[in-house]
Amino acid sequence: MSDTAKKIIGGNRRAIAKAITLIESSRADHQTEAQELLSELLPHTGNTIRIGLTGVPGVGKSTFIEAFGTMLTKEDIRVAVLAVDPSSQVSGGSILGDKTRMEQLARDERAFIRPTPSKGTLGGTARYTREAMMVLEAAGFDVIIVETVGVGQSEVAVADMVDMFLLLLSPGGGDELQGIKRGIMELADLVIINKADGDFLNAAEIAMSDVKNALHLMKAKSPDWSADAMKISALNKTGLDEVWKKINQFIDIMKKNGTFEKRRGQQIVSAIWSELNELIRERIKKGKTEEIIALEKAVKNKEITPLAAARELLNSIFEAK
Ligand code: GDP
Repeated sequence: MSDTAKKIIGGNRRAIAKAITLIESSRADHQTEAQELLSELLPHTGNTIRIGLTGVPGVGKSTFIEAFGTMLTKEDIRVAVLAVDPSSQVSGGSILGDKTRMEQLARDERAFIRPTPSKGTLGGTARYTREAMMVLEAAGFDVIIVETVGVGQSEVAVADMVDMFLLLLSPGGGDELQGIKRGIMELADLVIINKADGDFLNAAEIAMSDVKNALHLMKAKSPDWSADAMKISALNKTGLDEVWKKINQFIDIMKKNGTFEKRRGQQIVSAIWSELNELIRERIKKGKTEEIIALEKAVKNKEITPLAAARELLNSIFEAK
């Protein structure tokens, strides 16, 4: 086994951080190196609870992760946080990398926080996240939280790589409840109403019963689990141990009925197809640049349909072989 792999398995933070940087690099030699490293780590992955967490900006995600994560590390549970940050695509920088977020947890020896850049495609981001998770699992983290901001496609991708998906809502921000797409609610195994404190307490109660009603009308993802709603205050650190209990209850049930392993198997297999998609797109874009430009122009000029353009491109690739 390589020195780097040994260090990662031993929990060396610098080695972990360097490995994740390697994974994120677009350089071909780095990618080869990353894949070699990951294949060494692969047998050491899997012993983790993978949790997805989503909610619109301002709902209290970082406050929650800070409080919840610190509660866990105090019990000697090691926590890693991967934050998928769509804003970095626009600004080039990463607001989630801001040192002021989760300050206490960031300094905690038993925690590791890392923003995932979302440059490029959704598939690319999914790859970084999936592979960073492998590194963190090999490094012995007990819980990995994958945080996504907002209500878009990345939530669907993240829900497809975690064991449990949490949706954070807050009654204080006005129209978050209406703004949350039904599709996101359907992904959730547990909905957490944050800011159940002070002036928001009543509104949190109402929000919770609204959400419970909405969840009731949805089809359960598993016959053994109906998504539920609970209220917490990340600020006052109330309800957090109930959340942890609920997570463990969920994981136990899923393990007992076999869904846990089955779902992980499906997820890893579906990752092959998502990777293949990415690889094919990358390869075609590199090799067929002029043809693509011409076809895009033809589609814009309404000379051919998008499907006809895609077919033409595909045919020209297979003929070339
Ligand atoms: P994020 O954008 O989802 O990460 O949200 P933040 O964690 O940055 O929180 C946004 C704002 O909501 C901050 O001003 C927090 O102090 C506040 N906040 C977070 N959790 C709570 C809570 O439980 N109760 C109250 N009253 N405010 C909270």
